[in-house]
Order: sequence, then structure tokens, then C-alpha cells
Amino acid sequence: MTHRPASDARPDAHAGEGRPAPASAGIFDPGLLDRCISCGFCLPVCPTYKLTGQETSSPRGRITLMRALEAGKLADGDPTLAEEASFCLGCRACETVCPAGVRYGELLEQWRDHQWRGRRRPLLARLLMAVVSRPGLLALQRLVRRYATGRGGPRRGAVPATAPTGSGTARSGGAPARDGAARPASLMLGCVERGLYPEVSRAVLRLRPELAVPGGQGCCGALHAHNGDSATGRELALKLGERLDGVIVTTAGGCAAHLAHHLGRERVAELSEYLERTGYRPAGEVRVGGRRARVALQDSCHLRNALGVTRPPRELIAAVADYVELPNAGDCCGAAGTYSLLRPADSRAVLDPKLEAIEAAGVDYVVALNPGCLRQLRQGLRRAGSKVRAIHLAELLAMAENGSTAR
Ligand code: SF4
Ligand code: SF4
Repeated sequence: MTHRPASDARPDAHAGEGRPAPASAGIFDPGLLDRCISCGFCLPVCPTYKLTGQETSSPRGRITLMRALEAGKLADGDPTLAEEASFCLGCRACETVCPAGVRYGELLEQWRDHQWRGRRRPLLARLLMAVVSRPGLLALQRLVRRYATGRGGPRRGAVPATAPTGSGTARSGGAPARDGAARPASLMLGCVERGLYPEVSRAVLRLRPELAVPGGQGCCGALHAHNGDSATGRELALKLGERLDGVIVTTAGGCAAHLAHHLGRERVAELSEYLERTGYRPAGEVRVGGRRARVALQDSCHLRNALGVTRPPRELIAAVADYVELPNAGDCCGAAGTYSLLRPADSRAVLDPKLEAIEAAGVDYVVALNPGCLRQLRQGLRRAGSKVRAIHLAELLAMAENGSTAR
């Protein structure tokens, strides 16, 4: 874990350092900030609190910091504020156990907006935000792919090689909803996924060839919102919403939650939800060494904690393989958007217990529902010398349709 500044979480501890914030600074929505009753139910589920045992690194401790900032009891240049706004994974596990309905994710976005105002973000964050904002920079994305996936990139041949790029000719169409209503639907290619794992979109089109794939797709803005630029995050979400007709089908849990927040829940469907809604019946099975494959799932934090989607991906996996529930499937894997790039040591510390659980479960595959989680798991498993392979849900289902026998 990286060095963390000492803090006793007392709001007055650093008063006077940097520029003092005025009383009631207007940084946070007061209705959101007031909601916390300081019960502490959220502490045991918080990954950063589990790592440090420090109140300051818990949801309640961070809300105390936000309140001190808002009230002018902490100067906004305070290093603990910067550290804790960055150390938080934004996984929103705290929201799922909160009896007061604190919308921590929104508070965190408001906090990070304030923290980064007038300051330069780390070079890597700026670079990523610039690249994903410009669909034309695919060549640079391929460089990022090489850097990010290293030697253990995705296996070739699992799905057909007819890649949509999102920058070429648009395909039109729409999958029928299960109720028979003709509902147009568009596949979102995802800025990160398109660069790092284009085989995921290819697999989706094998499962649902009727999906439209409009060209000229931009970023959804989740990366910006999570890195202290909510205005651009919202702007990009609205723009993408105009570009994609009907229901936006996404293979990234984080993007699904961000788009649902800005466009409305009914406009967005993560892949497993969409497949269920449109009556998809998984075909075939995935086999390993003459037996049915053993497959675990890594939940996407935002899909699980913000949108409450947990059942559909499990049922889809169980239809084509022997499903194995990991004891910590719902815990963050440490990818958390740009977190694994900006805070690699903390990210690995969050990931390690998950790698141990995957190994102990004796599975052949672990399924991810988000490109960031996929990258994180692949890199972690490779570092650990594991034989377990990380794969996206779409790839697993396409392999089953192929009648795929691995290894
Ligand atoms: S569970 Fe909710 S109300 Fe209780 S301390 Fe955590 S954020 Fe505050
Ligand atoms: S978002 Fe995750 S890491 Fe951040 S305070 Fe909540 S539970 Fe902890």
C-alpha cells in the first residue's frame, strides 16, 4: 500500500493550511450531505477501511471530511482531503448497506469535482480522458492496449473476427423485446473496450446479430465523472444518448450506471439484463478437459451496487457451465476506472484476497462484466501464475454457442 498522510480525522487538524474554505462552501448538495446519521454500518463493507482500519478511510470518515470542508473547518488544500478523495475506490458498496439512503457516489463526484478544480490531474488521467473523448484516436488506443494487456492479452479465435470499430459504417436494426414489442436497441462499443477488447463486442453480435451498431460513437463520460469532471461526464453521456437509438446495450457495468444516471434507467441495459429481457436462451456449453467448465463471476461494482443487477449474469453462466459463487464476488476487484493505473499498489492490495478466493475455488474461468475488471483480473491472475482465465460474459456465451472445448 502506498504511504498515506497521517490523519486523526479531526476536522480542525489541518485548518489554516492552504486556502480556507468559507462557511457552507456550496460544494455539496446539502440534502445529500445531511443524510448520514454516522451509524457506521458501512464500515465493514468498505475495501479501503478493511485495508487500513482507519476511520478516515471509511465512508463515514470521508463524509466527516466532506462536512468539515463544506463548513470551512478544513482548508481545501488539506492533504488528507486530497488523499482520501483519491484513495476511495468509488465502488459504492457503502450505499448498499446504508439505512439512511446516503447517495455516496454522488457526494464523491461532487467532492472530486471540487478537489480537482484549478489543479492539474495526474498526466496518465489527463491522457486517458483526452484519448477516450476522441473516437479518432484509435491508433493511440491500440498502443494503450499493448501497454495494458501485455503478453497475456485475450485469446484469439474464441469469437468470429468481424470487428465493429464504431468509427465506420453504421449497421442498423434492433432486437425484439420479450413482450414482442419492436424496441430498437443499439450496442455501445465503449471507448476503453473498443481499444483493449474489441472481441467482446464481436461476441455480443454473435449472440444478438440484430443489434444496431451506430458509427462515430464517443465516450460515455464515466471516466470523466469519476475523475472530477462531472460536467464533461454529463455532456458526453447526453451526446452518446443522442447518437445511439433506443435502448443502449452496454458490456460495461460502470458505463451502464453512468448512462442510467444521466439518460434514465429505461434507456440503458447491461448485456445480461438485455439478454434476459429479450428472451435469449443460452446454447451449448463450455467444456474443459472433457467435463463442463467451472466458472465464477466477478460482479461489476456499479452494476451491482448502483443498478442492483446480480441475478441475470449468474443464471446465464449457470446455463452453459458449472457456476461457482465466490465468497467475495461482490467485493471490488480494485480496477475502479483509472484507480488501478493511478494507485497501483492500493489496487493490488484490494485485488489480492479476490485472487486467493478464485484460486481456492478451483475454477477454470472467472467472468467479468466490465473491461476494467477484465484487465485487472487478467493481469492479477497472470502475475500470480494462475491457470484460471478471465473472460467477459459475452465471450463465454459465444464460446458455448461455438460448442467450444477449451484446453
Ligand atoms: S451507513 Fe450510511 S448513515 Fe451510516 S455512517 Fe455509513 S453513510 Fe452514514
Ligand atoms: S465507495 Fe467504496 S471505497 Fe469509497 S467509501 Fe464507499 S465503500 Fe469505501
